[in-house]
Amino acid sequence: MATLVNPADISPRSVANKSDKKALLDAIRMTLGVQSPAVRLNTQTFNRNRYAATSVLPDYDALKDRARQIKENAISNLPELLRHLEASVVANGGHFYLAKTAADANAYIRDVLLRHEVKLVVKGKSITSEETRLNHDLEAAGLTVAETDLAEFILQVADEQPSHIIAPALHYSRERITALFKRKFTTDLPLDTGEELTVFAREKLREQFIAADAGISGANLIAADSGSLMLVESEGNIRMTTTLPPLHIAIAGIEKVVPSRTDFGTFIELLPRSGTGQPLTSYVSILHPPIKAPSFAAPGKVAKPREFHMVLIDNGRSRMREDPVLREALYCIRCSACLNSCANFETVGGHAFGGETYSGGIGGSWEAGTGTLMNARFSELCTACSRCVPNCPVRIDIPWLNENLRQRMNFEQPRSAAKAAFGDMTGSAPEDRVAPLQKQFFGNYSTLGKWGTRFAGLSNASMSLPGARAFMERVFGVDRRRTLPRFPRKTWERLYREEPRGLPAKFRPSLVMLADVFTNYGAPERGMAAIRMLRAIGLDVVLSPAIPDGRAAMSQGMMETARIQANAIAPMLRQYLREGRKIVVLEPSSLAMLRSDFKHLLDDEETRQLLAQNSFEPLEMLWNVAQEQKLDLKRIFPARKSKHGTKLFYHSHCQQRTCNSATQTIDVLRAAGFDVVTSSVECCGMAGSFGYKHDYYDLSMAVGEDLFAQVRRADQESGPRILVASGISCHEQLFAGMGREVVHPAELLAGTLS
Ligand code: SF4
Ligand code: SF4
Repeated sequence: MATLVNPADISPRSVANKSDKKALLDAIRMTLGVQSPAVRLNTQTFNRNRYAATSVLPDYDALKDRARQIKENAISNLPELLRHLEASVVANGGHFYLAKTAADANAYIRDVLLRHEVKLVVKGKSITSEETRLNHDLEAAGLTVAETDLAEFILQVADEQPSHIIAPALHYSRERITALFKRKFTTDLPLDTGEELTVFAREKLREQFIAADAGISGANLIAADSGSLMLVESEGNIRMTTTLPPLHIAIAGIEKVVPSRTDFGTFIELLPRSGTGQPLTSYVSILHPPIKAPSFAAPGKVAKPREFHMVLIDNGRSRMREDPVLREALYCIRCSACLNSCANFETVGGHAFGGETYSGGIGGSWEAGTGTLMNARFSELCTACSRCVPNCPVRIDIPWLNENLRQRMNFEQPRSAAKAAFGDMTGSAPEDRVAPLQKQFFGNYSTLGKWGTRFAGLSNASMSLPGARAFMERVFGVDRRRTLPRFPRKTWERLYREEPRGLPAKFRPSLVMLADVFTNYGAPERGMAAIRMLRAIGLDVVLSPAIPDGRAAMSQGMMETARIQANAIAPMLRQYLREGRKIVVLEPSSLAMLRSDFKHLLDDEETRQLLAQNSFEPLEMLWNVAQEQKLDLKRIFPARKSKHGTKLFYHSHCQQRTCNSATQTIDVLRAAGFDVVTSSVECCGMAGSFGYKHDYYDLSMAVGEDLFAQVRRADQESGPRILVASGISCHEQLFAGMGREVVHPAELLAGTLS
């Protein structure tokens, strides 16, 4: 990265708006240099707790389906729900205001507060008011605003934007909070422990609660039938904010409205579990404002009558509702599961992987929807690893949203003859030829692979020429520190043609192995090992032609190219299904295309369903057949014959896990007699082209550090283990981090056959 600024000197606010790419790169440097340990510790703790909390929910999938259904219906019926809600609020004796813009909302709130001669307003955590920059506007009008959530209080003192949806100051270690408070407050207290810090903040906040004339809260959900608010929190400050002062203003986005209070139950089950991993947070309030109990009056003051205002803001949400892609973001309940399960977010947090208000994988859609498209530039940090998808309680396809944002940002790029010519030459769809050269380079991997292998000697030699890597870095953004795989002289297709057919099949199903372009041009021997492994248990296996499936293009936001490729490969694969074969896919990112991503790309729904239902990872297929036929895998693939030894460290692939096709590999390896230690990271950080990119190389390696540390720990505990991984990019990352050979499970098993 070009800048020479010390990461510690970069302030989060100065890099909050990522519409300038330099801000994104500086933010990555700043977070890696200063915030990463605290972000990692806190997000990974939330993530572990979430797995534990959701694993004991017997009806977790049904709950997610119900939550999704409620949100889908609510967004569909939003205009009607808003009318209903207004009537409910007014019938309760409250005031209702629907603000078209952030400025409208702020102006309304400011006028109400000034009318009531409010001097001090206490606020409970409200990300919507961050979006509208409410504090800034109120302070400009001469009001004092006191944030009462401990984390928001820290950020107010530090003048920083939140870095996480539910834990806004999660990037602060205890030591950094102590240093901050000592810098900003005059105190002799040591403030060395969490308890001392909390007591110190609580003293300050109590004074504010007692003196406040008004309270502003957000709302997790709002019921149209009753005007009730659901508020979920850990500290009780929102409860004080909404009940102590006589004047209560609730500000929330229009997407928070659901039909009925009875809908709250589903979200009370899901929200805390998905966020912090708690079965329930310390405080869950269902308020029906204006509340009837008298307001608090400080000694010597007279209690004033209560007044309630509900301010709902649109600020781009109606446009999002009409947008076929961004509409899905409106279902978000802001639980943070997608942030905590995201390896990139776990490493840099929301000051890099986030914008002025919203962060993480879902944050890009919100910044684009409520601000401008280029504010969503940080969504480039979404590698489409898909780990967030099964963990989202409303099943939002976050990578799909980000790939579409990428396409829209590509379309914002200036056209150039060089990009058009390069796109034409390498196979970009005409619409995608406006994409930056780097994106077209990675998005058209199949063309690169085809020509690279055709002239393998020349291609490999040219990479060693002086200046070649510097040229690649300058023109295509390929980081020169990353080892490039060598092009093989023979593709997988060619090796397959040269391989004898083998013994007649003993079992069904017959298989076609998809010659995914990554294996065909990058690791053909691995592909052959998979074929030999499946033939060894008595299956008939043929290899399909190698044509791109759209994965590489889609990950670069080249959606039209991806669509064309998906619609070309699907009929070819369907023909194999007609012949009675099942499809086996070695590269997990290609398997994820067939199992899941084609739903966005294929025109033919029936073919999509057939491909999704009939595609398998090779060891998943092997395990299924072995179970069915009661095969003795220890006899067929005796681990003791492996030249690598029997002790393994196995890292499955992120998309393989999302496809539920990872555990079978471990089952097979153990059944064959291998001693297997597994990784527990969400993603290795390489993520296809991501780790090759000069802009993101440092982040990619920092993400990988968790995996490398797990390998080192396993080595220390029980001696060196052979590294085994299922994804091509995981191989590259493990090799880069550990400097050791990495093998595929199929290579390992095939190696025991001779
Ligand atoms: S797809 Fe992966 S990288 Fe993208 S937001 Fe989800 S977890 Fe993060
Ligand atoms: S996108 Fe899903 S997982 Fe992420 S915050 Fe929203 S509801 Fe939670």
